[in-house]
Amino acid sequence: MLSVFEDLESNVRSYSRSFPVVFREASGALLQDENGTEFIDFLSGAGVLNYGHNDPDLLATAIQYLNSNGIIHGLDMATVAKREFIELFDAVILRPRGLSYKFQFPGPTGANSVEAALKLARKATGRHNVISFTNGFHGVSLGALAITGNRYYRDVAGLPTAGATFAPYDGYFGADNDTSQYLDKMLSDASSGIDLPAAIILETIQGEGGINVASQKWLRNLERLCRKNGILLIVDDIQAGCGRTGSFFSFESAGLSPDIVVLSKSLSGVGLPLSLLLLKPELDIWQPGEHNGTFRGNNLALVTATGAVRKFWADGNLSTAVVEKGHIVSERLRQIAQSASDESLSVRGRGLMLALDCARGDVAEKIVRRAFEYGLVVERCGAEDQVIKLLPPLTIDVATAQRGLDILQRSVSEVLA
Ligand SMILES: *Cc1c(COP(=O)(O)O)cnc(C)c1O
Repeated sequence: MLSVFEDLESNVRSYSRSFPVVFREASGALLQDENGTEFIDFLSGAGVLNYGHNDPDLLATAIQYLNSNGIIHGLDMATVAKREFIELFDAVILRPRGLSYKFQFPGPTGANSVEAALKLARKATGRHNVISFTNGFHGVSLGALAITGNRYYRDVAGLPTAGATFAPYDGYFGADNDTSQYLDKMLSDASSGIDLPAAIILETIQGEGGINVASQKWLRNLERLCRKNGILLIVDDIQAGCGRTGSFFSFESAGLSPDIVVLSKSLSGVGLPLSLLLLKPELDIWQPGEHNGTFRGNNLALVTATGAVRKFWADGNLSTAVVEKGHIVSERLRQIAQSASDESLSVRGRGLMLALDCARGDVAEKIVRRAFEYGLVVERCGAEDQVIKLLPPLTIDVATAQRGLDILQRSVSEVLA
C-alpha cells in the first residue's frame, strides 16, 4: 500500500511515516484513506486548514475563477485577483484593527516570507544580528534556519548558520523568571556582548516548539524594548495567525503593532501555497525585484484567500466560535490530564491552538500512534516531541471535536494504564 513511497520517495518524507495510510479525500474536519476509512483531523496540515478541508464555498470560488480563464500565473504582475485580495484584506482585516501595512508577496512558502522579512530588517537598519527565541521555528531555508532553535534541523544546514542570537522565550526558566528583563539588560548594556540587532522575531505562541504561550505582559515588554533600542519587531504569525488563537492575528490581545508580520499556512483558506509580508509603510525601502520568486502571490490562491476573508472575517462569528470551542476542548483536555494515572500531563494553549504536554516523548508517541489506530490524526511537537498538539479546523463542529477527544482520552488511558 505504501510501497511506492517506501521504494521511490525520498527518506526525507515524514508525515507518511506517522500516518501510514494513503489518503484520498477530505471534507471539513474529516480525512478518508483509499480504503474508505475515516479519520478525524486534529492536525489540519500543521495549521494550513483552519477553515477545514475543501470548504465548498471557497472551492466554488476557485472553480468559477478557473472556468473564467482567470490569470493563474502572472509573476508579480498586477491582476484583478491580487487587487481584490489587497483591497478586501485592507478593508476587513487591517483597517478595523487600526493597522496600516503595505503588502509584499514573496515566494509561496512560509520560509520565504521569513527570509524576506530578515533581509528587509537588515537592509532597513544596516545591522546584521537578529534575536530569536529558544524553541522558535521559522522554516528550514538557511536564513530561517539560523533563527530556528531545533538542533535536528540546524544540524543539516551544511554551513555555519549566522546572524542570530538566541534569547530565552517567555517561561523558559519557569513562570517566575521574566526573560524580557534579561533581554532588556543585555541590549542596554554596551558590554553585554550582544550585537545590537536589526530585529527581534517571535511567535506569540510557539507552534513547532511546543505550544509555548507568551504572556501579554512579556510581549508588550519586548515591544517596548524594541522601540527603546530602535529594533524592528517581526511577528511570525504563520501558524498562530489566520484565526487560530481566536483573533485574526495572534498578537491582537496583547495590542502589539509589529513592524513586519509574516503570514502563510492558512492564508489561502484551502491549502494552496501563499505567503505574505505585511510591512509598515516607512519600512518599504525595497528596490524593484530585490526579493523575488517565480510564484509570488499565486492568483488562484489569492482568489481563495479573498473568499476566506469574505466568508469568515466580515463579522466576528468565527472568532467567537473559536473562543467557545477552545474552552470546550481545553476543558476536556484538562479532564483527560487529571484522570490520567500519570500526573505529569498538563494542558496549555489559546483558542484552538492547544497542547497536551506528556512530559516524555515516548509517552506522547505511544498516545498519538494509538489515537491514529482509533481514527484520529494528531501530531507531536516540542523539543523532545513530548507535546501532543491539537489544531482542529476552526470550523469543526463540537460533536466531531468531542469524538476526536473521546479517541484521545481512550488512547491516553490505555497507554498510561
Ligand atoms: C510552518 C512555519 C514556518 C515555515 O513555513 P514553510 O511554508 O514550511 O516554509 C515558519 N514559521 C512558523 C511559525 C511556521 O509554523
